[in-house]
Amino acid sequence: MLDLKKYIKVISVLILIILLILSIFNLFISNMFNLFWLSINLCVLLFLLLIISSIFMTYKVVNDKKVSPFIMKINFKIVNIVYGISILLSKFLDIPKDEIRKIYVKLNNTYIYSQKYNIKSEDILVLIPHCIQKHTCKLKVTNEVKNCKVCGLCNVGDLVRLNEKTGVNVFIATGGTLARKKIIETKPKAVVAVACERDLTSGIQDIKHIPVVGVFNKRPNGPCFDTNIDIKEVEDAINFLRGESI
Ligand code: SF4
Repeated sequence: MLDLKKYIKVISVLILIILLILSIFNLFISNMFNLFWLSINLCVLLFLLLIISSIFMTYKVVNDKKVSPFIMKINFKIVNIVYGISILLSKFLDIPKDEIRKIYVKLNNTYIYSQKYNIKSEDILVLIPHCIQKHTCKLKVTNEVKNCKVCGLCNVGDLVRLNEKTGVNVFIATGGTLARKKIIETKPKAVVAVACERDLTSGIQDIKHIPVVGVFNKRPNGPCFDTNIDIKEVEDAINFLRGESI
């Protein structure tokens, strides 16, 4: 569940900080370079206006209201600019960083789902974190998912079936570095990434040249231990990227 109020709180504090800094600078040095300082003021005010309109756009996207893909794209660029500082501020405001990350992934996914794709299965890479494998299972599925015996104890078996059914490339990565290496090696045209909020946002930010649909993993046993996946959500993302209706 997305908590937009916390996101708005962080962005509002950011706006206040920018206004405060601008006022202090205006008090001390505005007399020195009038024309120059006026243009700085205008730029900062324009930037603040963009952030404020971004709040409205984000509100609409999060509440599944109709927004044009172009506006969504611009909004996502603004959110990307303020993302780092928002994460920093959330720490001081005692707001879990994951609340900001969830909004970020929602904005990314909604933009991707507003587009049209017709990507071949073999050009789609499904990236899965290793913690999905049952901790007691000794089979090595990280390099080859088909080593799984599909015993039904974890979702790896579902991924084997998904691979057989759709023909997409499924890779279980032991970490972000290996996942990035796999992307460089296989050069996919789209990625469906399953991970926690932190890994998904950093992955989406790293892979800018192709669509990356983010799917949150479920962590009933705590982080990074015997996690689960909503296979239907992954399959829907694959079908969408292949140009099929979901
Ligand atoms: S489904 Fe596959 S990976 Fe999971 S426990 Fe069974 S054999 Fe191991």
